[in-house]
Amino acid sequence: MAIIASNFKTNHTRKSTAAFIKEIDSFIKSNSIKNEIMIFPTATSLDSFEISENLKIGVQNAYPVEKGSFTGEIGTQQLDEFGIKTILIGHSERRHILKETQKQIAEKYNFYKELGYTIVYCIGEPLEVKKLGLEKTLEYLYEQFENIDTNYENLILAYEPVWAIGTGVSATNEDIKAVHEAIKKKIDKPLLYGGSVKVENVKEICSINSVDGALIGTASWVAEDFKQIIENTK
Ligand code: 13P
Repeated sequence: MAIIASNFKTNHTRKSTAAFIKEIDSFIKSNSIKNEIMIFPTATSLDSFEISENLKIGVQNAYPVEKGSFTGEIGTQQLDEFGIKTILIGHSERRHILKETQKQIAEKYNFYKELGYTIVYCIGEPLEVKKLGLEKTLEYLYEQFENIDTNYENLILAYEPVWAIGTGVSATNEDIKAVHEAIKKKIDKPLLYGGSVKVENVKEICSINSVDGALIGTASWVAEDFKQIIENTK
């Protein structure tokens, strides 16, 4: 069974999120989709739809607290209101744009692990590291597991090369295979690929043995396209 996940990033309104989720939910039902479908909408939209058993809804980020004085952040007191038990941690946009350090990421990971959340944990290398070859790439990727308990039962990994995110240029099947096989040898967890996955390439990417699904941004934001992606990986 594959895991097909849509990361909305900072896209969609409450209204369009509600419409999107309703459409995907009924598509899953009427097409007897067996794969696990996950959606990470914006936190501001979490009250705009009912969570259905067909879909796993997660947050793109949250602070490692229940509540308190952490201006601009949300904690588990807020997540609990929506029944959220899934979180994305370590996304490259948070590492590079929001400057989250591995220490902060690990703190967040350990906090949500203690609470039993399903964690989709992202790793990925920038282009300058990729250019140094596979060995250096793997070294860089393994550093992103510092203080991360990779035996955690509710852990899902996502390999998202930074240079492939939002660029329209996915990693080649050979690149994906090489990195996924190496990681899978060390860590026996579901491993998704992310980075310019789209309707046209999702089937081929997901048919690689060491790929357990896809984490998709841009190409998943229109419901028709996401339905096609789900269909193509059935
Ligand atoms: P794109 O699919 O837009 O490349 O984004 C991938 C991603 O960052 C998913 O988390």
